[in-house]
Order: sequence, then structure tokens, then C-alpha cells
Amino acid sequence: MTAEDKARLAVLLDMAGGFLRDSHWRERETPVFEDDAAQSVAGAGGGDSLETIAAEVRECRACGLRALRILPVPGEGVQQPLALVIGEAPGSEEDERGKPFVGAAGHLLDRMLASVNLSRTTNCFITNTVKCRPPGNRDPLPEETAACAPFLARQMRILRPAYILCMGRIAAQTMLRTNEGIGRLRGTFFDYTPDYPLNHQPDDAAAPAIPLIATYHPSALLRDASLKRPAWEDLKKLLARLRT
Ligand code: SF4
Repeated sequence: MTAEDKARLAVLLDMAGGFLRDSHWRERETPVFEDDAAQSVAGAGGGDSLETIAAEVRECRACGLRALRILPVPGEGVQQPLALVIGEAPGSEEDERGKPFVGAAGHLLDRMLASVNLSRTTNCFITNTVKCRPPGNRDPLPEETAACAPFLARQMRILRPAYILCMGRIAAQTMLRTNEGIGRLRGTFFDYTPDYPLNHQPDDAAAPAIPLIATYHPSALLRDASLKRPAWEDLKKLLARLRT
């Protein structure tokens, strides 16, 4: 690609970013399942981009997990997703591949999402509360979650999801800032109000709260099949909202 071609492409991407940004909230009044937003359009976050964040995650040494992981897992999916799916932390397979929710739990997550017309390739973005694997799949420590929180906040500011779906206790507790168990948090819609700095664009202060619902982590469903029924009930509530 020549330098001129690259310049043209940059202009087109900028225009596409502006179009998506300006039309996002109006279009969300009637949510659609087949969101064909481009995957990597920079500029919706006041000059920030998912690529920039991913690059910073790769270099990050803000907590002790950096020394223990193989690959960081910034997340993947589409821009301006219908749903932002948030898990706890990368597991061993994610750590080896640098992708969120792979392996058995990842396949189950994909099936759960498909049951409500969601997909990481068309209308979701999937990430975790921390981007590096805690050793032995232990829970992330509070200081690790706090150190990594700015990355998730920046991703959310760019993504501006219509809904947030938390998979499991850690993600729900982190996003809702509570110690309640997943049994009490799941299946109920909460209004998630972003608490990251809103000083990049003047209109950010008016950004609406994002509906958030939590359910069981797919790994929990693989350990205990009796959780599949309540998880399905949670997903049906999300589906009903998506169809409203
Ligand atoms: S978990 Fe987050 S804060 Fe810690 S090293 Fe990885 S990217 Fe940085």
C-alpha cells in the first residue's frame, strides 16, 4: 500500500468512526443483532483506540501478573458492540493464545451468546477485568484489578456498549463494586455508570448509564450443570431487553 493509499484509508476510517459515534445512541433505540460496525476503527475515544490499548497492555508492568503470564489478553470483538461481555481473567489457554474465552469455557460462552443472537464476531466485544492470567487461576487480587481497571475503562469509553454482560462473580463484583455473591447479583439489571474520567469530550458527561446484567461464568456451568437453567433464564432476560 502506498503512502497516498494509507492517507486515504486513514480519512475513510476517521469518517466511519465519526458516523458510528454520532449515530450510535440514536440507533440503539432499536437494537439490532447484526451490528456490522467495523472491528478496528480508531478515534471513538478522544484519540484513544483499541489498538493503542492493546499495545499498552502488551508492555504493561503495572502489577505482578506481568511476570507470571505468557501472553496478555486485551480482548476482541467489534466496535460499538451491542454487548460488552466481561469475564474475570485469562485462564491457561487464553494465556497461551492471547485471546479471551477459548477452550471449553470459550466454546460454551459462544453457544450461550449464540442462544441470544450474540457473537464475538458480529455484535459483541469480549474482555476480562484483568488482562493477564493470575497463577493457578486464582482470583485477581484487589491491587491487580485496580491496576488493570484503567484499561477496561478506556476500552468501554471507545466501545460504548449498549449492554454489559458480566460472566461470573468476579466480573459482577468488580463492575458493581460490591462483595455480594453471584447468586444475588445474577439475573437482575443494574445501571452501570462509568466512573472513568469524562474529560475527553464535552458531551461525555451526558452519556447514559449502561444496563448491566450478570450470570454464571461458563466454567461454573461446566463444573455444575445445574447452573445451566438459571444461566439460561438470565440470558432470556437479556434477550427480552435486546428485543424491546
Ligand atoms: S494484569 Fe493488567 S495491570 Fe497487571 S500487568 Fe497485566 S495489563 Fe498490566
